[in-house]
Amino acid sequence: MSQTLSLYRLQQIDTQIDRLQARLQAIQKNLDDDTELRQIIEQYNAAELRCHSAESALSQAEGDVQSQFIKIEQTQSSLYGGKSHSPKELQDLQNDVAALKRYLAVLEDRQLEAMQESETAEAERQLAHTKLEDARSDRTEQSKGLFQEQATLKNDLERFFVERNAVAGPIPAADLGLYDQLRLQRRGVAVAVIGDKSCGACGSTLSLAQIQSARSSGQTILCPSCGRILYGS
Ligand SMILES: [Zn+2]
Repeated sequence: MSQTLSLYRLQQIDTQIDRLQARLQAIQKNLDDDTELRQIIEQYNAAELRCHSAESALSQAEGDVQSQFIKIEQTQSSLYGGKSHSPKELQDLQNDVAALKRYLAVLEDRQLEAMQESETAEAERQLAHTKLEDARSDRTEQSKGLFQEQATLKNDLERFFVERNAVAGPIPAADLGLYDQLRLQRRGVAVAVIGDKSCGACGSTLSLAQIQSARSSGQTILCPSCGRILYGS
C-alpha cells in the first residue's frame, strides 16, 4: 500500500470513528436527559395537589351545610318544642330560622361549586396521569432502542479501532504526526481526494503536475490551498 493510500484509508476509518463517537455522544446525552419526563411528573404532582385541595374544600363546604342544617333544626325545635315563648321571642326565633335558611342556600351554592371544582380537578388529574404513564412508557421504549443502538455502535467502534491500528502501524511517525495535526486543524479531515482536477475538500483547482505527483506514490503532496494531504486513486 502506498503511503498516501494508507493515509487515505486511515482517514476513511477515522471519519467512521468520528461519526460513531458523535452518535454515541448524542445517545448518551439523550439517555442522561430526562428533562421532559421530569416536567410531566411535576405537572402531575401539581394536578394531584390541586385535586387534594379541591377535595378538602369540598368536604369543608359539606361540613358547613351539615352544621347549618343542625343549627336550623335546633332553632326549629326550640320554636315548635312546646316551651312557652313570648310573642317577641317567637318572632325572633322565626326570624332566626329564616336567616339561617337564607344562609343555607348560600352554603349549598358553595357546596355545589366546590363539587364542580373537585370534579374538574379530578378529571385534570386523570388526564395528567395518563400523560405521565404515556411519557414513562415512551421513555422506556426510547431508552431501550438507544441502549441497543449504543451496544451495536460500541461493537462497530471496536472493530474500527482494530482496523485503524492495522492501517496506522506501518505509516511512518512523521506522516502520522502531519496527519494528526491536519485532523486537528481541518475539522477532522486531513486527506482530500482529488476529484475533477481539484481538491475534494476545499475545491481549489490543482495543476496537472500536482495531480501527477500526488498519484505517483512515494511522496506526500499537500493541497496548496487548504494544506491537506492529497490522495488520487
Ligand atoms: Zn484543498
